[in-house]
Amino acid sequence: MEFKESKELYERAKHSIPAGVSSAFRAFQRPVPLFIHRGEGARIYDVDGNEYLDYALGHGPLILGHCHPRIVEAVGAQVRRGSTFGCQHKLEIEVAERMLKALPWAERVLFSNTGTEAVQVALRLARAYTDRRIIVKFEGDYHGWADNILLGYRHTQPIKAPSNSLEMLATGGQSPAVLNDIQVLPWNDVESLNRCFEDLGERIAGVITEPMQCNVASIVAAPGFLQRIREVTQQYGSLLIFDEVITGFRLAAGGGAEYFDVTPDVAVYGKALAGGYPLSALGGSDALLSLVEQGKVIHAGTFNGNPVAMAAANATLEVVLDPTTDFYARLRDKGLQLFEGLQRLSVDSGTDLIVQGVPACFHMLLTAQKAIRNYGDFASYDQAGTRAWVEAALRQGIFQMGDGRWYVSGAHTEEDIRLTIEKASRIVEFATNERTVRRA
Ligand code: PMP
Repeated sequence: MEFKESKELYERAKHSIPAGVSSAFRAFQRPVPLFIHRGEGARIYDVDGNEYLDYALGHGPLILGHCHPRIVEAVGAQVRRGSTFGCQHKLEIEVAERMLKALPWAERVLFSNTGTEAVQVALRLARAYTDRRIIVKFEGDYHGWADNILLGYRHTQPIKAPSNSLEMLATGGQSPAVLNDIQVLPWNDVESLNRCFEDLGERIAGVITEPMQCNVASIVAAPGFLQRIREVTQQYGSLLIFDEVITGFRLAAGGGAEYFDVTPDVAVYGKALAGGYPLSALGGSDALLSLVEQGKVIHAGTFNGNPVAMAAANATLEVVLDPTTDFYARLRDKGLQLFEGLQRLSVDSGTDLIVQGVPACFHMLLTAQKAIRNYGDFASYDQAGTRAWVEAALRQGIFQMGDGRWYVSGAHTEEDIRLTIEKASRIVEFATNERTVRRA
């Protein structure tokens, strides 16, 4: 496989764009951050003409794959009528109504553009509603790049108890003042959760968490952990905020809340919601969202509810929520075929590759541990080996996220998945050799 054109473009890009990429995560791609020419269904094609089965799906949003005809048609029709009005239009109501049907616990939704923004709305609403300041988050979780929540994200020393120490800061330029209003907790640690609420419960506005840690090796909560967060937040009058930016409209129609059967007070959606167009949303109760109606909480944005993203979301939701097609059961079946196939491969080969998560979102990475259950385990996985594995897969035409994460879409066929497992078996051979070499 040749990457000549991508390499040339990358060198050129570095002169005008820092690190040559528009989001930090993309700089890690090996052998070079790829320049993509086009996507179609479950496949993408780079500028060198290489074809890949796409399991990264644009960092997750492409729940129907690339260029789904219904989305292309809806977006095309809208673009011809106008791209943005800064006014209301009917598609906003249609998308809101479809979302509320899928999220029976929510009474209203509001729209933003990115996950980062919608998380900010959730934090502001939680603080305004409870008249408290502290937000609890879990280490390793990513809830967007804003100062007040990019905390306890890539620190080197895993924590064993609630923390708001300086080590929780994640980036240059971040104000340390944000540490006053945050507590970072280890995930899957009921004792820390209980202790945090015993000490600070009356001051905690909300707990934000992904229903599973998609950004930390796809760790699923230990039995009872999400339920305990639900109980303790209810007991202290704090809000439970689910960050469903990845899990929403991916794990099930009702996202992680439905999949894991835990009901939040607020949830934030993005990615899959508009099938590849920039749109995010927040769902919650009438009582909570009426704070916006009353003007007590400001929610604004030039592109909020813009008709192009709304047309994409409306078409996406029409397809994935169609009661006659059982979209999510089929997606889970396909994901399971892939998940189990890769898992079998890693077990049979006796390598240190592990596969964990759920069928619609999982990680395959190298670690000497049997499973990764928290950030402490995650901090010691074999990052270099995993990157080598991801690159080897790329060279076989399998495109996954740089951290070894896989997403499946409605566009992947059983044949695509069979082919993927076949290719993966060739790469596992490589991974075995790689480890042998590095251990020698
Ligand atoms: N929450 C989670 C769980 C995410 O994974 C991400 C992005 N990967 C975000 C929030 C931020 O979303 P965005 O990149 O659209 O701002």
